[in-house]
Amino acid sequence: MKTDVSIQTLFAEAQRPLLSFEFFPPKDEAGLETLQTHARELLALAPDFVTVTYGAGGSTRQKTFEVCRMLRNLSDIPVMPHLTCVGSSRADLDEIADEIHALGYRNIMTLRGDPPKGNTEFQPAPDGLSFAVELVQLLKRRHPDFCCGVAAYPEVHPEADSPESDLANLKAKIDAGGAFGTTQLFFDNALYFSFVERARAAGITAPILPGLLPALSLKQVQRMCTMCRAALPTELEQQLADAGEDAEASQQVGIEWAARQIEELLQQGAPGIHLYILNRSGIALSPPLRTVLAGITGH
Ligand SMILES: Cc1cc2nc3c(=O)[nH]c(=O)nc-3n(C[C@H](O)[C@H](O)[C@H](O)COP(=O)(O)OP(=O)(O)OC[C@H]3O[C@@H](n4cnc5c(N)ncnc54)[C@H](O)[C@@H]3O)c2cc1C
Repeated sequence: MKTDVSIQTLFAEAQRPLLSFEFFPPKDEAGLETLQTHARELLALAPDFVTVTYGAGGSTRQKTFEVCRMLRNLSDIPVMPHLTCVGSSRADLDEIADEIHALGYRNIMTLRGDPPKGNTEFQPAPDGLSFAVELVQLLKRRHPDFCCGVAAYPEVHPEADSPESDLANLKAKIDAGGAFGTTQLFFDNALYFSFVERARAAGITAPILPGLLPALSLKQVQRMCTMCRAALPTELEQQLADAGEDAEASQQVGIEWAARQIEELLQQGAPGIHLYILNRSGIALSPPLRTVLAGITGH
């Protein structure tokens, strides 16, 4: 059985920024096959680790682990399942933690999860957890060698009372044993830089990995920005509007924007890049994104 290296160790020992890709479980078998093809090409770029999102409910949970298994069969790159508090009691979470640990996973993206569709407020499951910090505590208590990543919000989580309380929550997650933060997507690097500055001033020393989404179209980006409450820079909006209905031109705008973001983030000392890669290898393989990614890993 394979035991993954802890990402905390990778951060400590790597002499360069880290690169990670995020996958999501496809809806059906055909999607899984397509994902496998794209994943092969993405893994050939030698990311330092990859992550797989976690949906609500039992069936999607199985899909997360199915994709994790598939990715592990393709390479030795550490695979980090996401885990949320949604729909699981403490006993369920203990059981899932044991199962993940027994399979040799050592890294978990540790989240509260969003309220199920149609609900505006998060409701913990019976005897479940209300906040991600409690899940970090549960996982670290159960298996101290788990490396927990936690979510960080440069533009403040939509439900937070204030930027200060949201930052205090990030600090609480790190203090509870979180090893690093991965940010919600953003398109304006200035927001990331000022967030990191505030985090450092608040005593958070853990790496804060910027999460980037290469835009595919104006519609998609507008939807994502509304959902995540992320700012859409006027310049990016205009470029995507100019590309109009031309899907290829829009995608190229998104790829070039992401590449410029990455260059600047790395120049200013970001500890790596997490790409919301949307299960598509074509995005990462297109210049100039391909070139900046190769600049990180040397592949
Ligand atoms: C990198 C990344 C990966 C993600 N992957 C997934 C995924 O795989 N599956 C999925 O369903 N979702 C995922 N999400 C979305 C995430 O689940 C949502 O953003 C969710 O709404 C909050 O999760 P959290 O872990 O940040 O929660 P928490 O850190 O618990 O915070 C939730 C909210 O509660 C507030 N809060 C915290 N503690 C308290 C307190 N004691 N009193 C009052 N308010 C408090 C916080 O400020 C915040 O507003 C991901 C997000 C990111 C950034």
